[in-house]
Amino acid sequence: MTVSNHPQYDLVLAAGTVLDPASGLNQRCDVAVSGEQIAAIGPDLASHGATVVDCAGSLVVPGLVEGHSHIFQHVSKVGAPADEAHLRRGVVAVADAGTAGASTFDAFRKLTVEGNQMRVVNFLNVSVLGLIDFRFGELLNPDTLNVEDALATAEANPDVVRGFKIRLSEDVVGPRWRTLLKKSIDLAEQAGLPLMMHIGETEEPLPAVLEYLRPGDIVAHCYTGKPHGILDGDRVLPEVMEARERGVLFDSAHGRSNLSFEVARRAIADGFLPDLLSSDTSARNWHGPVFDLTTSISKLLALGAPLEECIRRATVVPAELLGLAGEGYGRLVVGGPAHVTVLTETAEVVLPDASGNQITAPRLEPTTVLHRGAFVETTPWRGAASA
Ligand SMILES: [Zn+2]
Repeated sequence: MTVSNHPQYDLVLAAGTVLDPASGLNQRCDVAVSGEQIAAIGPDLASHGATVVDCAGSLVVPGLVEGHSHIFQHVSKVGAPADEAHLRRGVVAVADAGTAGASTFDAFRKLTVEGNQMRVVNFLNVSVLGLIDFRFGELLNPDTLNVEDALATAEANPDVVRGFKIRLSEDVVGPRWRTLLKKSIDLAEQAGLPLMMHIGETEEPLPAVLEYLRPGDIVAHCYTGKPHGILDGDRVLPEVMEARERGVLFDSAHGRSNLSFEVARRAIADGFLPDLLSSDTSARNWHGPVFDLTTSISKLLALGAPLEECIRRATVVPAELLGLAGEGYGRLVVGGPAHVTVLTETAEVVLPDASGNQITAPRLEPTTVLHRGAFVETTPWRGAASA
């Protein structure tokens, strides 16, 4: 960092490639920050900055938004610490995907929403129990899907609850998946919110499930290597393409066991990118194979997904879907909050998927992170020890 004598802006991120899919901006220029806001975006701002960060050779993108994570720390066995796992790795807003249910929501608000600096929203588990302990399926007792409780929680907490989540794996729903899915869709319909549905190890092939989904509902784990995924050989199933055409969304949600490089490579080659690029970070995978969102992005880039499309799906798309665009998340806009992540490509490293395969590819590392205009103390890549 260098200090100039003519400060006008508090801070200038200088000479990086500014990539903001929301506005279409993709060019080398500067981003100036005053207080908590973006003050200017354009060329030659560096000489007006009290502090100047040289971003030459790096990408300057909106603070990342994670659409699918598990961050109900201290209560759920899968809960990772939100700020540590996300904010300190370049992610400024995060949605917890069904770790909390109506009966644990108050604790989620207190511990996770209020206990972290970053913006936290959630998909409320349709089971009042939520995902406390992955060894015991939360819907094995179907009475835990209590529509009244879930609706009341959503209605009382519109600043946090942005959808519902059901895990459709056989070990969670048992043989009653159709009844439970229909009931969940009714619940989501009544609340006017989307339903996120977890696939991988569903009892029946995916098309049987897709039939029920409405535009805006989300299929998580679209690149899973488990049975009943999106592919038929090298091609994406026609029923999956039809569902996408009518507005059903697909979420990559890497997770401990739901990213197969083989599936992702074939789907990307067939033109099928996820709508949401998410990591599904949890306490079970944040030390590998997932690590964090930027590693999930790096993996899809290595498999042929275009950079701008990856950043779009980890910024403006989840921000809009989660109802956070109005708060200024997911885009770089003058006058908006200065949430900015600077990504620098590393040397090639070995990156694992969730099926025991590896690729060697460069990785995007968040080298500078601004949250409301302030520097976030970043934490080193958790894969460094195994790389
Ligand atoms: Zn998940």
